[in-house]
Amino acid sequence: MDNLDISTIDGLRILKVKDKVLLAHQIKPPYYFSCCDGLILLPTNEGNQKTVILDLNIEPYLINQINDLYGPISDYICTHGHMDHIAHVHQWESIGAKIHAPIPDDTCLLDLHNFYEGFQFDEALDFSIIEKFGELNGYNTCKEIYPFKPGKSFLFDELEIKTIPFLGHSKAHIGFLLVQEKIIHISCLGFDQVKPGVDGFGPWYGFKECSIDQYLKDIDLAQSIFLEQAEFLTSSHSYIIENPDITPFLYMREKIEKNQNIIDQAILTLKLENKSKISLEVFLDMDLFFPKKKMDKFRNEIYKYWESGIIHKHIERSKYLK
Ligand SMILES: [Zn+2]
Repeated sequence: MDNLDISTIDGLRILKVKDKVLLAHQIKPPYYFSCCDGLILLPTNEGNQKTVILDLNIEPYLINQINDLYGPISDYICTHGHMDHIAHVHQWESIGAKIHAPIPDDTCLLDLHNFYEGFQFDEALDFSIIEKFGELNGYNTCKEIYPFKPGKSFLFDELEIKTIPFLGHSKAHIGFLLVQEKIIHISCLGFDQVKPGVDGFGPWYGFKECSIDQYLKDIDLAQSIFLEQAEFLTSSHSYIIENPDITPFLYMREKIEKNQNIIDQAILTLKLENKSKISLEVFLDMDLFFPKKKMDKFRNEIYKYWESGIIHKHIERSKYLK
């Protein structure tokens, strides 16, 4: 199936995954972490009576146009509390959708302080940095959230949506299985190729709470659900995959392995032997993952915080250290 852009909205690409399931993508996000792709589930006789939106965090003016075209929208499900998944959700609320979000990240949608403390930015950065980060990404708060535990199944009229915990990425992070439609949406698990062959960063585990071990289990789980129960795979930052293409899973595992190699090489070059004697600063100065030296002070601080999380996790896994 070739996925033609059926969008009539400027600035938005809309692909048909299936007849009543659309994948939407904001073409030019205003800042690095302000948007993510998500699904529009149109009403059907056998399923939902009103449109349901899954994790489509795009700018408010686009949300209004989707509402004009495909509304009314009854429900919106957010997948986790990272900025590119929460910034504009308030607009879905203001056009009348009930907002569901997984515990514990649900509180990030209500107050930026919860985002700041929940992801432990407070241990390394001033709140003013996160305030600026929120502002640049257009963050605004919601008034009311309906929290749920990762793993919960939703039933909107006859439409069944299973949420799948993929907790390596965040304590709340979920994917979706559209049971009748046979579509798995793996959200931010780490398949971020916007086109076949175009490289991205891959799985993201810059926060303290992320876990590479859990990630590897999540990738296996996603692969088996995809191969056994789904025809199509979508995600927050990629193109549509058709069963039995396992590119996303190979890509994600490979990325994690590559990152491990980067740290292992640095350990060998620096002739380090003992985990307890390592200072992260030496690794950070090498700009191993992000070109921090080229960044302005503000981005440098945030990326430094994330990169230390990534480096730390690979140091822990290195076979070259005692
Ligand atoms: Zn994320």
